[in-house]
Amino acid sequence: MTDKITQIEWACLEGRRPRSAGSNARLGDHGIAVRVPLLRVTTADGATGFGHSWASQEEASKLLGQSVPSLFDAAVGVPDLWRSVEYPLWDLAGNLTDRPVYALAAKINHRPVPRICRVPTYDTSLYFDDLHLQTDEEAAALIAAEALEGAARGHRAFKIKVGRGARWMPLEEGTRRDIAVIRAVRAAVGPDAALLLDANNGWNLNLTKRVLSGTADCRIHWMEEAFHEDSVLYADLRAWLQAQGLSTLIADGEGDASPAALRWAREGLVNVIQYDVYGHGFTRWLETGRQLDGWGAGSAPHHYGVHTGNYAACHLAPALSGFTYAEWDETATSGLDGSEYRIVDGSITVPARPGFGLSLDSGVFEQAVEQGGWRADLQNAP
Ligand SMILES: [Mg+2]
Repeated sequence: MTDKITQIEWACLEGRRPRSAGSNARLGDHGIAVRVPLLRVTTADGATGFGHSWASQEEASKLLGQSVPSLFDAAVGVPDLWRSVEYPLWDLAGNLTDRPVYALAAKINHRPVPRICRVPTYDTSLYFDDLHLQTDEEAAALIAAEALEGAARGHRAFKIKVGRGARWMPLEEGTRRDIAVIRAVRAAVGPDAALLLDANNGWNLNLTKRVLSGTADCRIHWMEEAFHEDSVLYADLRAWLQAQGLSTLIADGEGDASPAALRWAREGLVNVIQYDVYGHGFTRWLETGRQLDGWGAGSAPHHYGVHTGNYAACHLAPALSGFTYAEWDETATSGLDGSEYRIVDGSITVPARPGFGLSLDSGVFEQAVEQGGWRADLQNAP
């Protein structure tokens, strides 16, 4: 790997979800379109790698002329300096060594490389798609039907957005509807599926207890962002869960990636950490996940609305003993082929192909580069 980077290209493709995603407790409609920003790097020998990046042209152009060994360290991953462009570099490193990213990552964390990489996943698509409906029965039936669409795609774990009474509905009606929705989804997907709740900080401690006790027989696997993270309130919730005999886990950390979340994970206050797979980053997740493994805490890298995040998080799984689930936001993007990732019985089978195992249609990508992206070559570099 003495090669150097001679060309970089960036474009934002557009993906589409199979149905429009509604509000959550904080934000309005998430819609049907998904932006997929991709940076492709090419070496003098013609090797390529591509992946998610929002780096500016000026920032990414610092890659030009850099030798591959200065951009990827097989013992660490991508050095700090290059973290804003790390995804194409992981893909390139995989392509140059003919290894999947998950194999490189597992080796860094001294973990075995699986012969077949299967990663548990959950369907993250159950938003507030029911706000226009008058009755809780209609609303619950709609979200339950959406959960069954996920089940038909192979999902066996489902995350339900809750906190309708935080902003979009009056508090009492919204809370009642949350409970009706949870119960309907449980009834629809059967007793063996895992149910996760995400309130996007729209509840408080008492509302959290009320809904978790009102759905105790639904066996909620984890409660995510019940309220803005607070160690006093989490200690109370933890003691209450224990007293109620509920095994629901507390999940947090997606919002502002608070360093306090790690301390609370070490103390056992928070069970599952959800730093974003792009905001926190892949190489940093390897380091953070190692710490969490040491404390017996779970890892669940967050992503939403980026399409490639569905695939990226999977490659962390073999490297982390406490990896829980990859978040799956079903999306199709013209030009980006992830069809070798298959969801069967709640797990994603990750292609044992070099890099991230994705294919990029060069014609589609280059057209997007011409139309709204950019390209820089070593000979034209400033
Ligand atoms: Mg969340």
